[in-house]
Amino acid sequence: MRRPARLIAAGTLALALAAGGCGHPAPDAGAAGIQDGPAVRLDRLTRLDVRVAEVAWRLARANADLCPVSHQRAGWTLQSASQYGAELRPLAEARFGLNGDLPGVVAAPVGSPASEAGLAPGDLIVAVNGEALSRGEAGAAESYDGLAANSTRLDAALAAGPVTLKVRRDGRERDVALRPVLACAYPTQVEVTGTFRSRADGRHIFISDGMANLAENDDELAFVLAHELAHAVLEHRTQPDVVGVRGGLNWAISMRRGLSLSSEADADRMGLFLLTRAEFDPSRAMEFLTSWATVDEGAGGPQFNAGGIYQSADGRRRALQPVLEDIASRKAAGRPLIP
Ligand SMILES: [Zn+2]
Repeated sequence: MRRPARLIAAGTLALALAAGGCGHPAPDAGAAGIQDGPAVRLDRLTRLDVRVAEVAWRLARANADLCPVSHQRAGWTLQSASQYGAELRPLAEARFGLNGDLPGVVAAPVGSPASEAGLAPGDLIVAVNGEALSRGEAGAAESYDGLAANSTRLDAALAAGPVTLKVRRDGRERDVALRPVLACAYPTQVEVTGTFRSRADGRHIFISDGMANLAENDDELAFVLAHELAHAVLEHRTQPDVVGVRGGLNWAISMRRGLSLSSEADADRMGLFLLTRAEFDPSRAMEFLTSWATVDEGAGGPQFNAGGIYQSADGRRRALQPVLEDIASRKAAGRPLIP
């Protein structure tokens, strides 16, 4: 997994993206949260991480056969102390037992290899197959790089099959055997931007805190995440542009080049199949689009949307109605749910 440093958690809006993604920015959407204290913000962020991880894992697991890139995965979401800014870091260390760049489990979704192995939030992974992971420099500045390097080592070990992890919980270390399973290889991250946006860059799926909170239940959340997974399945993005996440402008340009109105409609359609295969309810997509339209109007004024490639919520609902009927008839007839 990869995740940008939690800059907003540290009280800055620097990470708020300039443009792009499958949704309209609403810059004031998360503003209320910034006034809350660190403990409240950390709790809210953690709950969102867990909720998104649960839904994303079901989608990744159920659709491994359709994804162009699937890997042996553990299903966990990891974090590190070094991701956090100075304000939240002591709290995150105390609450989750985090230490420098070492990966800590923030979510171990139900049914995932991580959960089956007994891992739980608060566990710190200190070694894999007898090799110590790097703690990094004590007191290093807020950065995601150290965790990324450790995650890469874990992913490489998992790709080769079952692993033995050394895990620290409540100050005590133990060995944990974990047997990974095949799942779509697009880790999902929550971005704290206060906007309503989700996106896929060909390697990862991102959902903003605003968008995740807008989803009233897991079926609605699955609609957003499955739409992004569909972009990956349909290989709409072949250029990983993680660098562009910070740049904004380059990223917006590559969005225009890589996507079109028809690819959005294709992703909506494919997304409904993907979420149905993961046993979510596809009909809730309609309700989500209604909520989304309400919020968008509420934001007021013209919305910059990366080249105007998005249909209205009404248009998307109309386009999805026959897809829902198609899916229902396939299910009724016992035909495969392959678009
Ligand atoms: Zn899209």
